[in-house]
Amino acid sequence: MKDDGKNNYNVFKPNPNSGGIERLTLENSIRKALQLGEFVLYYQPQIDILTGKIIGTEALVRWNHPTLGLLPPAKFIPIAEETGLIVPLGEWVLRTACLQNQLWREKGFAPMSVSVNLSSRQFSKHDLVETIKEILLETRIDPQYLELEITESMTMNVDVAIEVLGKLKELGIHLCIDDFGTGYSNLYYLKLFSIDRLKIDRSFVRDIMTDSNDADIVATIIAMAHKMGIDAIAEGVETMDQLDFLRSQNCHEVQGFYYHQPLPAEEIEQLLARSSEV
Ligand code: C2E
Ligand code: CA
Ligand code: CA
Ligand code: CA
Repeated sequence: MKDDGKNNYNVFKPNPNSGGIERLTLENSIRKALQLGEFVLYYQPQIDILTGKIIGTEALVRWNHPTLGLLPPAKFIPIAEETGLIVPLGEWVLRTACLQNQLWREKGFAPMSVSVNLSSRQFSKHDLVETIKEILLETRIDPQYLELEITESMTMNVDVAIEVLGKLKELGIHLCIDDFGTGYSNLYYLKLFSIDRLKIDRSFVRDIMTDSNDADIVATIIAMAHKMGIDAIAEGVETMDQLDFLRSQNCHEVQGFYYHQPLPAEEIEQLLARSSEV
C-alpha cells in the first residue's frame, strides 16, 4: 500500500472499473486487520425516555487503522460484504458484543440488551444458527439480551428466512427490523416473522418536525407496532423537538445524538457507573 495518505484514502473507495488491484489490497488489509485485532466496537446507548436509563446499546464496528485512524463502517463494510470477509468480521462483532455485554452484567450493572447488525452474507451462511449457539454458550450471555438487527434485503429468500429466523427465535434471542419504513415489504415481514422490535429509520425521524408526511408515517408506524405488541425504537434522534414528538406518540425508546454518539466500551461503562449511583 502506498504511504501517501490521499492514495490510501482512494483505496477505500471501491471502484468497479479499476479491476482487481485496489480491491485486492483492501481485501488483504481487512483480512490482516482481523488477525491483528484492529477492529473495535463502539456502542450507542438506547434510552428509555420515561426513566432516562440506558436499556441497551447498538454495537457499531470501526476500524482502528494504524495510519488512517478510526475508519467508519462505510469505508470497509461494502468491500467486506463483497468479498465475504463480512462473515468472519461479523462473527467477531457478535462474539465481542456478547462478551462485552455479559462482562457489564457480571460487573453488576443493570441488565441491558446489545443489538448487533447482521449482514445478508452472514444470514445466508448455512451455519449461522450454529455459530450463534456457540457464541451464546461461550460468552454466557442470556439470549434475551441479544438482539439481531435485520434488514429487508437480507430476507430475499422468504422460505429460508422463515426457517432461520424461527430457529434464532427458538434460541431465545430477539429480532429487530432495522431501517423500518425504507423497504418495499416491511409489513409483509412483520406478518411472516415473529419480530420483537422495529427500528424506525433515521430518514423519517430526521424530518418529523418539517415534513408532515414523515410525522404521519412515524406516528402510524408507532401505533401499528403497539397494536401488534411489538416495541418501536426511533433512531437518529438529534433534537428535543423530535424527542417531544416521539413522546407524544408514546414511543419511549430512542437512540441518537441527542443522548449519545456511539462510544467506546470504557465510556459506556462510565455512563453506567454514573447512572447506577443514586
Ligand atoms: P445503522 O445500522 O443504520 O446504524 C446507525 C448509524 O447511524 C450509525 O452509523 C450511527 O453512528 C448513526 N447515528 C446514530 N445516531 C445518529 C444521529 O442522531 N444522527 C445521525 N446523523 N446519525 C446517527 P455508523 O456507525 O457509521 O454505521 C453505519 C452503518 O454501518 C450501520 O447503519 C450499519 O448498516 C453498518 N454497520 C455498522 N456496524 C456494523 C456491523 O458490525 N456489521 C454490519 N453488517 N454492519 C454494520
Ligand atoms: Ca442498525
Ligand atoms: Ca438503522
Ligand atoms: Ca441505516
